[in-house]
Amino acid sequence: MKLEGKKIVVLGMGITGVAAALFLGKHGAKVKAVDEKPFAQWGAAFERIQHEPWLERCSYNEEVLDGADFVVPSPGVPPRNNLLQAALKRKIAIISEVELAFRFLKAPLIAVTGTNGKTTTTTLLGGILKKAGKKTLVGGNIGNPLIGCVEDSNGADFVVAEISSFQLQWTDKFRPYISILLNVTSDHMDYHGSFEEYLRVKKLIFANQKKEDYAVVRAMELSRYGLKKQVSAKITAFSYGEELEEGIFVKGDKIVFRTAEKEEEIYPLDIIRLPGIHNVENVMAAVVAARICGCAEESIKTAVAEFHGLAHRIEFVAEKNNVKFYDDSKGTNVGSVASALSAFSGPVILLMGGRDKEGNFEELRPLILAKAKQVILFGEAQNRIAKLIGNNIPKLNRPKLRDAIEAAFEIAQPGDVVLLSPGCASFDEFRDYKERGDYFKKIVRSN
Ligand code: ADP
Repeated sequence: MKLEGKKIVVLGMGITGVAAALFLGKHGAKVKAVDEKPFAQWGAAFERIQHEPWLERCSYNEEVLDGADFVVPSPGVPPRNNLLQAALKRKIAIISEVELAFRFLKAPLIAVTGTNGKTTTTTLLGGILKKAGKKTLVGGNIGNPLIGCVEDSNGADFVVAEISSFQLQWTDKFRPYISILLNVTSDHMDYHGSFEEYLRVKKLIFANQKKEDYAVVRAMELSRYGLKKQVSAKITAFSYGEELEEGIFVKGDKIVFRTAEKEEEIYPLDIIRLPGIHNVENVMAAVVAARICGCAEESIKTAVAEFHGLAHRIEFVAEKNNVKFYDDSKGTNVGSVASALSAFSGPVILLMGGRDKEGNFEELRPLILAKAKQVILFGEAQNRIAKLIGNNIPKLNRPKLRDAIEAAFEIAQPGDVVLLSPGCASFDEFRDYKERGDYFKKIVRSN
């Protein structure tokens, strides 16, 4: 792909947009920078590039598209955005930042997607590969844009990238050597418009793979969405609950890998330090990919045993008067609340709420009935959640997270678990899920 002399509109000037602009500028393109926010709010990242000669700061209107060769939207820009719609009408190509990065990467790409577990699995897999002595770069949705990995990819053994649905949108030739699909449950309805559209975009991870590539897919998704027929890559399935004819699964207290030729017990389950069945699935997906990459079994095992998980994902915070507090602020959709609730056996006081992403909270009802002694709802979404989870569940409504935490302290009895797993975005009260989780931890610890 030739960039020299091209006129490219970069839409959205957050971290990803700025990284894409910088890459394009360095490769001789003229970049038109645009954002629907007023310039004063473009943020610190933009300051780094604002005086570059290849950059033009443009106002947010359709004229920015005049003469453009293509548009690179930031992942946060929804497809319904008016400039994207105008670009489509004018037949100007739209390519995402990960597509752009893919076209220039010099090392095999391992792409991790799914509704939940991407960051955990990407981090673990990156750790395993490094432990096994592979020169590995880790990027994508995890916080450092994939485009920023391009330069260093020359000479790397692998690039592991966390890829969200927002980033898969507007891909075209994106072709991972290994693609991992962890799970697909309902999320981001506000962005994609329907579950069908969300699933279509998630499946783009496989779209350009050929038979010499690999796909690692949860068995449930494989059958539920008829993926076997749609994926050309060699598929390995993983499952916690089901003994597979071929693939990786749990048998008794062991993880087992079965091929047409043989069955191996690869490790005992108890080397996994992370809570919950869902994390066993994340580990299995990472292990399969690491084996494809030729990592030594001993390195894989050590890296798995050393991995203690990430902050804000069912993170233990404190024990007060025999009550354990957990921060699962990253649990921002119904699927992740379900996996968090499933990880506990005892009576849970569940704190849920925040900004609604149109999640189907009804699905949580059986699990809540089985595990939660009390649900405390807070934030913008509280009334909708209350209606959807229905009757016969002890519910309390509180305006803000702080009030919800206070109520939890009043109610909790020795032996209880207090779990913040909001099932919603944080933006009604906080900058992001990290700020929300840190706030929760601070209040709990100081109480
Ligand atoms: P992502 O990057 O996809 O958002 P994370 O690893 O950051 O995934 O985890 C997000 C949330 O989902 C956390 O609440 C975590 O406990 C939960 N989670 C992690 N892995 C899974 C999984 N495989 N299935 C369901 N929930 C998961």
